[in-house]
Amino acid sequence: MTTAKDAQGIDLDIKDAMEGYERFRLEFERDKSFYKSLATKKQKPRLLWIGCSDSRVVPSQITQADPGELFEVRNIANCVPPAWADDEAVGAAIEYALVHLGIDDIVVCGHTGCGGIQALAEPIPPDAEAHLGRWVEYTRPAHRLVAAAGLPEAERGPATIRAHVQFQLDNLMTYEIVARGVAEGRVGIHGWLYDMEHGELQAYDPKTGSWRGLLETASA
Ligand SMILES: [Zn+2]
Repeated sequence: MTTAKDAQGIDLDIKDAMEGYERFRLEFERDKSFYKSLATKKQKPRLLWIGCSDSRVVPSQITQADPGELFEVRNIANCVPPAWADDEAVGAAIEYALVHLGIDDIVVCGHTGCGGIQALAEPIPPDAEAHLGRWVEYTRPAHRLVAAAGLPEAERGPATIRAHVQFQLDNLMTYEIVARGVAEGRVGIHGWLYDMEHGELQAYDPKTGSWRGLLETASA
């Protein structure tokens, strides 16, 4: 594999990051007091955001959050492995967020066109992509549910993505610290879906089992 380089021999992808960093340095200097306060005070984010690694779905852009406002876990297909699963990354972030940062709202956000959800529908070579193959197993419950529902083909993809978010909310509740917080009314869990084509967020309403525009749920 070869990577494209500029006249000085710098990898073009790295060069892009360097140029972005140069612009950031100017912004940093302009807004120095803000960044200094971030560095000198303990972080106090508003939300634990569990989202997909997908480069097109940028939590701080969608919510217009500033640095310091979102505590993020991003992984392929915004998975929350259940508490007993062989994964520590998400559980550790949940505990850190709730115990050490005092966060009381957790958002699990899926998105349309999620390749991580789609991955299970295609054969994954077990030798070459063992980690990926094991990871996308976390999306299997949603695939199973939607397959059993016998939906028309065009509806299956979006239905799987929504069902997957709902399963991750169930998985959040397998963490004792979350379940207790929710039961005592101290912690809120929220299932969202980002529609990439329209730039819209939908929210799951567990009372009705339906999805609605995020702003509609707020005004209801
Ligand atoms: Zn995704």
